[in-house]
Amino acid sequence: MVRFKQLCQKCKKNMVLVTSKTKFAICYDCQKEDLQGEIKDPKMKKMFDIPEEFYRESLFLRNIKSSYLRFGKLSGKQIEWFKKVVEDMKKSKQ
Ligand SMILES: [Zn+2]
Repeated sequence: MVRFKQLCQKCKKNMVLVTSKTKFAICYDCQKEDLQGEIKDPKMKKMFDIPEEFYRESLFLRNIKSSYLRFGKLSGKQIEWFKKVVEDMKKSKQ
């Protein structure tokens, strides 16, 4: 997938790494509040327990987490993709 940088549509200050599928480009600083919240499901808690820098770098991971915090659930596909992206990021950091 092609990735490119776009200016955050909220603060219009920071650059965000997006793909052609991104509907709304929002930077980590602007989205940070949406990522706070208590996760009660131990499985989900474990899944979301990744280095903060991953959230900083990936709009996709932020969107998944914020949607889980908002709706309290995720689809199988979302979970699958979340894990895949985290794996890829871990690999690329080695
Ligand atoms: Zn912003």
